[in-house]
Amino acid sequence: MKLAVYGKGGIGKSTTSCNISIALARRGKKVLQIGCDPKHDSTFTLTGFLIPTIIDTLQTKDYHYEDVWPEDIIYQGYGNVDCVEAGGPPAGSGCGGYVVGETVKLLKELNAFYEYDIILFDVLGDVVCGGFAAPLNYADYCIIITDNGFDALFAANRISASVREKARTHPLRLAGLVGNRTSKRDLIEKYVESCPMPILEVLPLIEDIRVSRVKGKTLFEMAESDPTLNYVCDFYLNIADQILSQPEGVVPTEVPDRELFSLLSDFYTTDEKPTGGVNDLESGSDHGSDLPSQTNDSSNFLMV
Ligand code: ADP
Ligand code: MG
Repeated sequence: MKLAVYGKGGIGKSTTSCNISIALARRGKKVLQIGCDPKHDSTFTLTGFLIPTIIDTLQTKDYHYEDVWPEDIIYQGYGNVDCVEAGGPPAGSGCGGYVVGETVKLLKELNAFYEYDIILFDVLGDVVCGGFAAPLNYADYCIIITDNGFDALFAANRISASVREKARTHPLRLAGLVGNRTSKRDLIEKYVESCPMPILEVLPLIEDIRVSRVKGKTLFEMAESDPTLNYVCDFYLNIADQILSQPEGVVPTEVPDRELFSLLSDFYTTDEKPTGGVNDLESGSDHGSDLPSQTNDSSNFLMV
């Protein structure tokens, strides 16, 4: 099974991916996580260091694919999860999709691509251009990470559009949304009313998750010495179990951009926060700090 995890930058894709990968491995699956973000830190909490990327390795081998061995690019991470970082094209040139294509090609040549029960692609999703949509060509399921705020849901909607498009020619389904770093889910639910899809799980802001990144450890590894963290692992195990049950998922129909702007901004302006200033929102509503400032006249930013 192939999974593709998408979401706005910094929303928690890599954190969620690493912990889901371990959860799947705990369920007896052989798992490979492929970081497809040029930031190349997808697998950091699994391995504890920034592993060399496919692009780095190909460069040192002068692009002689036949000189690349599995151990040059596949690193074993915590919980027996294997890790690959695709890397990015040179800054300002090249295409992320080319890099993903080369990564899959290389893994196939090394006979590694078909060796795994699960391959999880950790991608980015602010802009799902043709290049960054490439992992959807291989995926059975897309999983979108979002918080309860405008920007992440806007990105989720763009990703949904890419899934809808790819599903025309590939057997791809959207498994659903994972809410992250939010104790509220009202805006997520509002979105899902307009663009129906499952909500797989909603994780609150958990300080230990932030710490896990700094320590270069997943929650599962941290829970070994601190069993009070097992409740966090259970969130990820729950997501893994839902995926392993091969859910029906959906082929989403995205909300048109302008409709989405008014849907989400009407919500901000009419739902119990009539003034809805940015500072109000930052001080604890969990709607993120990404609300356009002119909330009392959505037409202002519709024209941007
Ligand atoms: P992305 O891969 O989407 O760019 P990351 O997974 O790198 O995002 O997460 C960005 C930051 O947010 C990291 O420091 C991570 O530890 C933190 N983080 C992610 N999820 C949570 C959470 N539920 N609670 C607290 N911090 C989180
Ligand atoms: Mg990441």
